[in-house]
Amino acid sequence: MVDLAVIGAGLSGCALLAALRRRGWKGSTLLLEAGRGPGGRCATRRRRDNDSWRLDHGSPTLSFSHTPQGELANLIASLQQSDVLRPDDLPVVGVDHLGQQVAPPDHVLLSGPRWRGTPTMASVAEALLAQGGEVVEARFGERITTLCHDGSVWHLNGDHHARALVLSGTLLAHPRSLAMLGWQHVPLREAVPAGVDPQLDAALQQIAGLEASVRWNLMLELPEVSSHHLPRQIWLTAQAQERFGVERLVLHPQQDQRLGLVVHGLDDGAVITPDSQPELLRRHEQDLIKAISELVQPWPVLSSALAQARSLGVMRWGAAQPLHQGLSADLQWCHQTRVGFCGDWIEGRGFGMAEGALQSALNLAERISGSSIAER
Ligand SMILES: Cc1cc2nc3c(=O)[nH]c(=O)nc-3n(C[C@H](O)[C@H](O)[C@H](O)COP(=O)(O)OP(=O)(O)OC[C@H]3O[C@@H](n4cnc5c(N)ncnc54)[C@H](O)[C@@H]3O)c2cc1C
Repeated sequence: MVDLAVIGAGLSGCALLAALRRRGWKGSTLLLEAGRGPGGRCATRRRRDNDSWRLDHGSPTLSFSHTPQGELANLIASLQQSDVLRPDDLPVVGVDHLGQQVAPPDHVLLSGPRWRGTPTMASVAEALLAQGGEVVEARFGERITTLCHDGSVWHLNGDHHARALVLSGTLLAHPRSLAMLGWQHVPLREAVPAGVDPQLDAALQQIAGLEASVRWNLMLELPEVSSHHLPRQIWLTAQAQERFGVERLVLHPQQDQRLGLVVHGLDDGAVITPDSQPELLRRHEQDLIKAISELVQPWPVLSSALAQARSLGVMRWGAAQPLHQGLSADLQWCHQTRVGFCGDWIEGRGFGMAEGALQSALNLAERISGSSIAER
């Protein structure tokens, strides 16, 4: 039995653990993550056949709407000091519907300061997890599918037991999991029947209404390319996105001078189920490979390297970025059942991006460290 179980080792789950430690929290903590390592949507893809290969296949940067202040500024400073975070001043350019280079479009992810993980994006969550200290036991490759609450203790997959629970993703609380994963019920709703905790009822109702965009990211390996004059991100204008079904291209030079390229493909609304997914992955891969040759025309080195590109497959991000509005911040901690939420889907500054994920974790740490689970 632990004091706190946190599901999800993305930016917010790891930042929560780091923030709890900074606040002097001494409780035992179990971190459970479905993926192979920390990072979530800021993770880095590795390859079994090539040890040095690293590809930021989700978010290539941490975007902020404003210069961070207070605790958030301290967190960024601590990561900069340990050199896992650097200001992201790598060039961002635009490309239009005719395949010509233009200024990047106005976009919230490009409007404020940005930082990038070094050497890769996954380094940020790894460093935050390390800041959490020894009280944290982390388990990877374990997807939680069932939750049960007996009035005082949370039981996860029947194997893990905790006094309090934090969800950093929405899958266990959102009906989307029913379609995408073929689950029969919303696990968090199953665990606590309606009427037991009015705050949790309100949270679940809001979460059920949350929407998120889907991305189909094609990962390519290009041969040795001189990447000195190449941008880090190539954003398509609105008209170009419409025409090509692509949001942006992200370039990731490798240690051995080869180039990783991630094509962030937009979703076309086809229903994603366990049965439909393999065919959708194949179709998106073909469409994205077709689109890319027109998009890299302004960069002749890329155009010629593309002839020898090798596809490393498509990664589907089921909830790449939350849309419209998120969970109200006052429902982030439901004290009766001791369940909390953090992530970029919580309302507030930086909603839908790295800034919001980190800020929500700091806010939740404040709530948890002031609650009765800290006073056993
Ligand atoms: C393609 C793409 C591009 C992006 N571009 C940008 C950008 O340019 N700038 C920017 O600031 N942000 C960008 N973002 C958004 C940014 O990545 C997120 O805001 C941030 O990573 C969210 O962190 P999080 O901790 O809230 O969620 P996540 O990173 O999603 O973490 C949740 C974790 O929980 C785990 N999990 C979920 N359910 C379970 C379960 N049942 N059992 C076990 N583990 C579970 C997941 O595997 C995941 O690791 C982008 C995202 C994507 C996908």
